[in-house]
Amino acid sequence: SGRWARAAAVIRELEEKAATPIGKLRQVADAMTVEMHAGLASEGGSKLKMLISYVDNLPTGDETGLFYALDLGGTNFRVLRVQLGGKEKRVVKQEYEEVSIPPHLMVGGSDELFDFIASALAKFVASEGEDFHLPVGRQRELGFTFSFPVRQTSIASGTLIKWTKGFNIESTVGEDIVAELTRAIERQGLDMRVSALVNDTIGTLAGGRYYDNDVVVAVILGTGTNAAYVERAQAIPKWHGLLPKSGEMVINMEWGNFRSSHLPITDYDQALDSESLNPGEQIFEKLISGMYLGEILRRALLRLANEAALFGDTVPPKLETPFILRTPVMSAMHHDNSPDLRVVATKLKELLGISNTSLKTRKVVVHLSDIIAKRGARLAAAGIVGILKKIGRDSAAKAGEVPRTVIAMDGGLYEHYTIFSECLQETLKEMLGEEASASVVIKLANDGSGIGASLLAASHSQYL
Ligand code: ADP
Ligand code: MG
Repeated sequence: SGRWARAAAVIRELEEKAATPIGKLRQVADAMTVEMHAGLASEGGSKLKMLISYVDNLPTGDETGLFYALDLGGTNFRVLRVQLGGKEKRVVKQEYEEVSIPPHLMVGGSDELFDFIASALAKFVASEGEDFHLPVGRQRELGFTFSFPVRQTSIASGTLIKWTKGFNIESTVGEDIVAELTRAIERQGLDMRVSALVNDTIGTLAGGRYYDNDVVVAVILGTGTNAAYVERAQAIPKWHGLLPKSGEMVINMEWGNFRSSHLPITDYDQALDSESLNPGEQIFEKLISGMYLGEILRRALLRLANEAALFGDTVPPKLETPFILRTPVMSAMHHDNSPDLRVVATKLKELLGISNTSLKTRKVVVHLSDIIAKRGARLAAAGIVGILKKIGRDSAAKAGEVPRTVIAMDGGLYEHYTIFSECLQETLKEMLGEEASASVVIKLANDGSGIGASLLAASHSQYL
């Protein structure tokens, strides 16, 4: 019928505009490498901020003592404490708690947000048991994982460049984020010092290195997306400080803000971007990360409902609500293996109030999910190849004996969206070739950033 012909045309158009053939992915990877060079050359030299982390030494395993970490960067924040026992005993004990952030605090006042966080932290500290030992007369120390773009001024200070991922609190922008947290900690009457400020990518890199010496890159694929890696200090022209003894510096790429004319951008992406809290920014993130994949799917379904009556003569009103279709739901529908796509039917009904869908309609939902998720996964793989190129780890022929390259990966999207993570791994192989990809390993560092931040708090302790 006419409806299905119209639907097929809309789907075909999405397929074409969102396509990521290998040639395009190579262009994206090359553009990533070029932008990395530009961002390292000068401040503001690229959409890629290539932020200097002030981390010039990654954990060795020798760290000892009690340390706290606080992870703020998405819908939840986590507080964590670890008792570190050095090379032999490693992590003697760790405990954590997760608290979800009330949405109104994400767009309210700075003090309100930090008071909420500091109060949860104070409660957590109060529950510290006897397995944790703080030497007499010492202050508790904290590694603060803050996963938004920050212009770092030292290992324990830095100003917020902008909010992302649905946060928008104007008064915090340009402020020292450690000072904001420290004031809130003092308002709680808690005696604690922030000794390291890190991004989740840096935390993940540090946590990954603690367990595996070959970790040189960290990638986050969760609500947002970002990457960090170990760069030669000599290769950072914009760094005018002393060269670190290690000769290395960890760089927080802020790759979510990458953009390139080679990116496959559709009308849905353009509309999503222009209606977002941060139009024109985080374009790579908006194609890839968990905050947006479900929303892209919703927009495609809405167009099909409007133009091809995919769900019947009326457009389901709920389908018009931005962000109603979250990525975990999209993932559940995409992984539906039942012959009649029962999960898809149930989700459409429960979430969007759409009942009595035909199998053909459900198949469209799965097909669209496939296009959107795989584009994201393949672009993320291309980004990783861009980094590997920059550090000369992309080809087996170059070095003769190729060092093992480990990418520490964290984030709920990669962890739970199996089709996404498998596609990413396959694409990495496809791009690197058999030989080179044999020495590249992606290691899931489940919540490694918390441990990483506490390790960096330890190696930057005031008592060393
Ligand atoms: P954050 O990125 O907020 O620090 P996580 O790393 O836990 O937190 O990632 C959470 C994000 O991962 C969610 O916002 C969601 O987009 C994605 N996610 C979580 N569970 C799933 C799932 N089952 N399938 C697909 N995506 C998921
Ligand atoms: Mg996170």
